[in-house]
Amino acid sequence: RFIAFEGGEASGKSTQARLLAERIGAVLTREPGGTHLGEVARDLLLDPAHPHLVDRAEALLFAAARAQHVAEVIRPALDGGRHVVCDRFAASSFAYQAYGRGLDLDAVRSLSAFAVDGTWPDLNVLLVVDADVAEARLAERDKLEQAGDAFHERVAAGFDALAAADPDRWIVVDGSGSIEEVARRVWGAVEPRLDG
Ligand code: C5P
Repeated sequence: RFIAFEGGEASGKSTQARLLAERIGAVLTREPGGTHLGEVARDLLLDPAHPHLVDRAEALLFAAARAQHVAEVIRPALDGGRHVVCDRFAASSFAYQAYGRGLDLDAVRSLSAFAVDGTWPDLNVLLVVDADVAEARLAERDKLEQAGDAFHERVAAGFDALAAADPDRWIVVDGSGSIEEVARRVWGAVEPRLDG
């Protein structure tokens, strides 16, 4: 099984991805990292020291990193019979580059389809927290990001729309509360789908 964790800033998805991966003995990986190209791309995309990338370049760089990540990490693990848990995958591009930045959704989907070459998640777990909870968590971490601004609202609405459009491949989990509470909710939702 290939399971992707999706959600906005401070939704807790990285922690929950790790806990689920430990529980089921999955290979844990993350976007846009996980390979050398991915780490370089992550640095280029996220380090404020680098010049701003135009939206199309950003989308292409995420897609390039995803292609490498699928070929080098995800596909070989699945072919070896392992579960794979990935912290963000293509749906993050749909939410951030299309809903967030305003690029055409079909174009962004085509880029991802080219990149993943058929390797789509069996299940996407969307962790949802409202903007107040996200901002409180970000403030605790001393992050300057604004979870409640218009961009992040579009991203959150995008994730909601993606999940609503494809209920067979998405589960939506309330990400509020303690790590243990959320982990119990994730397990309750994922466990029945692991062998299906
Ligand atoms: O997973 P994490 O929250 O560390 O991702 C870092 C950031 O990368 C996100 O908050 C988001 O701003 C950005 N991102 C993006 N488009 C993607 C994936 C991530 O803009 N496809």
